[in-house]
Amino acid sequence: MENSLKAQIAGMKDWLVEIRRTIHMNPELMFEEVETARLVSTSLEKLGLEVKTGWAKTGVVGLLRGGQKGKTVAIRADMDALPLEEATQVPYASKIKGKMHACGHDAHVTILLGVAKFFSSIREQVKGNIKWIFQPAEEGGGGALVMVEEGVLENPKVDAIFGAHVYPEIQIGKVGINEREGLAATDRFIIKMIGKGGHGAYPHYSKDPILAAGHVITQIHSIVARDINPLDNAVVTIGKVNGGTAFNIIPDEVEILGTVRSLTPEVREKLKFRLEQVARGVASSFGMDYRCDFQYGYPALVNDPHMSRLVADACSKGIGKGNVAFLKPSMGGEDFAYYLEKVPGSFFRLGCRNEAKGIIHPFHSSLFDLDEDVLPFGVEMFVRIIDEYLELKLI
Ligand SMILES: [Zn+2]
Ligand SMILES: [Zn+2]
Repeated sequence: MENSLKAQIAGMKDWLVEIRRTIHMNPELMFEEVETARLVSTSLEKLGLEVKTGWAKTGVVGLLRGGQKGKTVAIRADMDALPLEEATQVPYASKIKGKMHACGHDAHVTILLGVAKFFSSIREQVKGNIKWIFQPAEEGGGGALVMVEEGVLENPKVDAIFGAHVYPEIQIGKVGINEREGLAATDRFIIKMIGKGGHGAYPHYSKDPILAAGHVITQIHSIVARDINPLDNAVVTIGKVNGGTAFNIIPDEVEILGTVRSLTPEVREKLKFRLEQVARGVASSFGMDYRCDFQYGYPALVNDPHMSRLVADACSKGIGKGNVAFLKPSMGGEDFAYYLEKVPGSFFRLGCRNEAKGIIHPFHSSLFDLDEDVLPFGVEMFVRIIDEYLELKLI
């Protein structure tokens, strides 16, 4: 089977490239993935899968019931693009102004369709069920949470789930895995220092929220350094400060906005607690009022170590141990975390960098592109993982 697997997947390449380019040229933003979803559902129906649309507005789920009874494994792709003007000169560049697939979700969709094509051709040999989850809105919309709440992990009940992200920091042909924590919780905060405005020449009649905000900014940066165990991971970044109108006016209030990243619930709660405490303490020391609004985002993405090991073993069989690396977690975020809160699984990275082809730009860059060899490569990795998990012994 080994050779025929490689040959069969290699034979799909043109089909995969065409799908990827079609999606790439027609990017759709979160919860608006109507045409992408139509392409997905039509393709799955053609392959003879059971298809249900309308999940989380635009999500699509495909199901293949194998010839024999067994476990149910799910794989997932995200479908949304970004509000960004594409600056590449490639012939398949975005045709939609101000929208671009700059995070590789077009490749994720394509790879999963390739996996569907592979298994639909050998349905009788499949022991168990394979579920394909195409979700909207990974880029901040939390489409995964909506899909989970709508029951995507039920009927049939999913026993394990796998997902991947193309990764421009890893060379094409290589896979990166996190054994446990892979990506961070992505929370936000808005702190408001509420003083009393007045003339800049008479500060004693005012309560200056700009000076207070300065102290908040300084103290916030001591949280990671002094309150978090040095062996844990955390980030607090202030990305925006709003306040003031003119050089000689003390404003009424100043707003400080930031993002908070953590890998464990304990650190997450500690950061929340300390942000509030700093805001309250500084406000009190200046005799002014404050607000601290902490907004929970995606939870940390935590893989099941057994499933991560399974991914490593399955991928190694195809590309050799030397091309599979265990990575440190990243402080970025991923809503795949919501699936992993419910069922064991693993989220891994597919290298898509190729310096020789000039494919070197990071995610969310207007110049982002990927080596399209990642399409058949991704199909092969998923096929191997599913084969390993369902114990199909096809390979
Ligand atoms: Zn992204
Ligand atoms: Zn992404």
